[in-house]
Amino acid sequence: MANVLRPAHGAGTPHVVIVGAGMVGLSTAWFLQEHGVQVTVVERSGVAAGSSWGNAGWISPGLCVPLSDPSVIKYGLKAVLDPNSPLFIPLKPDVHLASFLLGFARRCTPGQWKRTMDKYVPMNRQAIAAYQQLEDGGVAATSHEAPIMAAFRRAEDAKGLEHEVELIHEAGLELEATEVDNATLRAELPIVSPDVEKAIRLGGQRYINPGEYVDALACAVEQRGGRFVIGANARALRHGPGGVTVEMMSGEPISGDAVVIATGAWLPELAKSCGVRVALRAGRGYSFSVSVTDPAARPVPCPVYFPFERVACTPLGDRLRIGGTMEFAGTEDPLNADRVAAIKRSGQPLLTGVDWDDQQDVWVGGRPVTVDGLPLIGETKVPRVYVNGGHGMWGITLGPLSGRLLAEQMVTGKVPAELAPFSPTR
Ligand SMILES: Cc1cc2nc3c(=O)[nH]c(=O)nc-3n(C[C@H](O)[C@H](O)[C@H](O)COP(=O)(O)OP(=O)(O)OC[C@H]3O[C@@H](n4cnc5c(N)ncnc54)[C@H](O)[C@@H]3O)c2cc1C
Repeated sequence: MANVLRPAHGAGTPHVVIVGAGMVGLSTAWFLQEHGVQVTVVERSGVAAGSSWGNAGWISPGLCVPLSDPSVIKYGLKAVLDPNSPLFIPLKPDVHLASFLLGFARRCTPGQWKRTMDKYVPMNRQAIAAYQQLEDGGVAATSHEAPIMAAFRRAEDAKGLEHEVELIHEAGLELEATEVDNATLRAELPIVSPDVEKAIRLGGQRYINPGEYVDALACAVEQRGGRFVIGANARALRHGPGGVTVEMMSGEPISGDAVVIATGAWLPELAKSCGVRVALRAGRGYSFSVSVTDPAARPVPCPVYFPFERVACTPLGDRLRIGGTMEFAGTEDPLNADRVAAIKRSGQPLLTGVDWDDQQDVWVGGRPVTVDGLPLIGETKVPRVYVNGGHGMWGITLGPLSGRLLAEQMVTGKVPAELAPFSPTR
């Protein structure tokens, strides 16, 4: 039995301070409000200032699978030597990174993949319902129902995805995967290059414009009485009989009956001293948008995924966001223009009718990747201090559900069965 959220002074409404205004922190805030909890969101930069802005915006529970795929090892070894590779590991001595990558590689076995997948399945099944709850509850943003079209320049390259779909089905997760003939593909998605030989439609998914969505979520939290303290850089947590106090780099400390650390790729900075020892690194991804010049191709009806090249495309109005890369560099390192150029080189032969020179919103963001591929959701070793993060590739898909389940745990004191594998103190 975990602690039950109560006002530290015995009476009134409980008050929770959430550190981090990304998809995960704001979802936690919104679902705590559903239980009548008062919230303060503390953010050092701005709403969606971290990886919740320029990501691909896919709510794709059907593809939400462990990153620790056995093929990653072979792929990773090749990638170190290839400047165009979507995986980038800087060749400079870094003991912490080396130990993280070794820990990660050790887990890239079929057995471990399956055990991790079994932990994801109950979450994946409820991910879309949590979005629906936000939208039905007044969040003024829309998640668009659409398939994801997976496309392959060489038909034989589809084998990897086909195998993954088999494993997903074996794990008991529903995912409609249907091969699409070339004529249908051209009619539905003229944006896909005629060189593409094979396509598979992955049905039942959704997508959002993540920046707009997270902004709308922040507005909803504020309209329901949530307080925002933007520009407050949390430095440390102090625990006492009156609750938990968040100390800032500068400015006034803020106290609550409980605190949730939802700081994405920066999570260890505050969580380590609370007994959260699972290693977490920023797996940095890049994106930019291009205009769709062919009127027949506008609007692009659904996201397009090129699994072989690891390039993700998402419609954003008349533009297309193109994203990719997993770069294990420092969280605060500057944007590396070579990585952007590599995504462009990979994408050019795959798409037609887009203007690659009209590049806007070039962005880098750090996916919070844990060494064991599982998120960190629950109470820490310090009473009344919780974490919600470490969702890696899938914080948009699973953010709202994680917020809902953590809020439930905090107010009832019972750990929902779905969250048991994600204990931050595992
Ligand atoms: C290229 C790319 C594509 C992706 N595509 C998808 C996708 O299609 N679907 C999907 O499900 N996921 C996707 N992801 C992953 C997803 O973006 C992340 O998992 C998710 O955004 C993590 O959200 P978060 O709220 O945990 O962290 P963040 O959004 O990073 O938020 C953390 C916040 O905490 C703040 N903060 C940090 N430290 C402090 C401090 N000390 N004090 C105060 N504030 C602090 C930061 O400023 C930041 O605003 C993608 C990621 C990338 C990079």
